[in-house]
Amino acid sequence: MGQGNPEMGGAERCTFCAEPPVIRLSEPDRHLCAAHLICEIEERAARTIRERELVRPHDRIAVAFSGGKDSTALLLILSRLLLSWDDVSLVAITVDEGIAGYRDDTIRAAEEVTKKLGIEHICVSFTDLVGDDLDTLLVGRETNACSVCGILRRKALTVAAHDAGATKIATGHNLDDEAQSVLMNTLRGDLPRLVRTSDADSSDCFIPRIKPLADVAEKEIAAYLFVQDLFPFLPECPYTRYALRREVRSMLSALEQQHPGTMRNLIKSKRAIEKQVDRSTISEPLRRCRQCGDPCSGELCQVCSLRKSLGK
Ligand SMILES: [Zn+2]
Ligand SMILES: [Zn+2]
Repeated sequence: MGQGNPEMGGAERCTFCAEPPVIRLSEPDRHLCAAHLICEIEERAARTIRERELVRPHDRIAVAFSGGKDSTALLLILSRLLLSWDDVSLVAITVDEGIAGYRDDTIRAAEEVTKKLGIEHICVSFTDLVGDDLDTLLVGRETNACSVCGILRRKALTVAAHDAGATKIATGHNLDDEAQSVLMNTLRGDLPRLVRTSDADSSDCFIPRIKPLADVAEKEIAAYLFVQDLFPFLPECPYTRYALRREVRSMLSALEQQHPGTMRNLIKSKRAIEKQVDRSTISEPLRRCRQCGDPCSGELCQVCSLRKSLGK
């Protein structure tokens, strides 16, 4: 006894009070109890929103709400911040891709959370959008799962947000996701995507997307939910085994463990490159899809070319 928690480097109390610590954070090195962790995470999200001006008075924010941990934390944090905002409303949107043995549980969890928080909840499915669920669409092309799913999920979300009268779409992307994307785009040599700006002006169908948790690490989000008994114990999507992101993710977590600050530094590099690059020289001018009229860079938008390749 009296040695403190070994995972906490032996610390017995929170840096700011007498309570036992639940997490150790670096830069600056500190140990936080449950209450101080909750404050820290909510304040950091509020700061990201304030500094990047992600929310304005009279906004109606559609929260992309899968029921997983990132979007659960996002919804909880936004519902708390909502109290201090002028005439802003929230609507949670869950996309049912149609993945057997995975999605049914997460939708049930999503319904419970929105009910508890008293937030309007809308469910939309891939079947509504293209006439088939993801499992059916993917037969024989499982290795493309994440890109097919990503394109359709984006579209389903945009349509639902538009129908719900939303002025912003908020997604639960966290610091780890952002760092992974920087590394993936670098590994693929995809400069246009690398320098695509990460803040509110990246839009599709002209509904701006915002990422209030972009400065919060995955482990911090997990701890934030865990101490409030809100951690959703859900299965992992069965298709992630095919994704490059999975490899990048485990490599980056290992680096972060050994060299704290690695993920933030990657994002810093991206922002530095972003400032140097003249975007008009590398990205194609925005055009209209000849099938559906959505903004896109080629003849057809991603959804219409996907539909074409699937024979839909
Ligand atoms: Zn404390
Ligand atoms: Zn189109």
